[in-house]
Amino acid sequence: MKRKLVVGNWKMNGDRARNSALLDQLLGAMPAGMDCAVCPPFPYLSQVGEILRGSDVALGAQDVSEFADGAYTGDVSITMLGDFGVRFVIVGHSERRALHGESDVLIARKADVVLEGGLVPIVCIGETLAERESGVTEQVLHRQLDALAVTLSPEALQRIVLAYEPVWAIGTGRAATVEQVQAVLRFVRRWLGRHVSAPERSQVLYGGSVKPETAGGLFGLPDADGGLIGGASLDAQSFLEICRAAT
Ligand code: 13P
Repeated sequence: MKRKLVVGNWKMNGDRARNSALLDQLLGAMPAGMDCAVCPPFPYLSQVGEILRGSDVALGAQDVSEFADGAYTGDVSITMLGDFGVRFVIVGHSERRALHGESDVLIARKADVVLEGGLVPIVCIGETLAERESGVTEQVLHRQLDALAVTLSPEALQRIVLAYEPVWAIGTGRAATVEQVQAVLRFVRRWLGRHVSAPERSQVLYGGSVKPETAGGLFGLPDADGGLIGGASLDAQSFLEICRAAT
């Protein structure tokens, strides 16, 4: 059986003392039989990477530049991330799509850069509330996914992790229902079936207000391979419970 993957996206939270306290609690109690990563803000990659060294928890980053190097003030390259032991890179998070105007095409390029750098992109897709309510969820996901297929070869597509994060469920406390999630994950798996040779081997996560109480039901869905966790990943006990739900 495929091991489930649980990724903590810390977003713009934490400081040296809190990071170290959180990781101390996590590392002492991580369950076996699942894969886990945490994605701190860029300035803490070094600190968190040192603490995680030799543990079963992988290091992730929250974004990457599409460029290799040069005059891109404020950006961080894939080589730099690799230098700090990063394994996963979130790209296309809805907060970057909405607040930084990242397009489907740019996100596909970033996913390509991550793969070329030998790391694993976690590509986020998902519809807004207005899109869901107007019945265009599948069209939106299709558009976001098709942009990936234009840039990435089938072999490359096979190696990405996809995360379905409905925008209306992020940070709202209103997780999608298991029926809603399974319907979309099935849709995503069917899309993968048309683009990669082994869609059942692709890893597809759900994210959006996952809590210890809801994690078991979500991770138990036939097409769910784990979760991308925001708020609940900042609390050691909650995150550990979510990780246990993935075993
Ligand atoms: P929340 O778990 O806080 O809703 O955030 C989800 C998310 O955006 C993870 O990337």
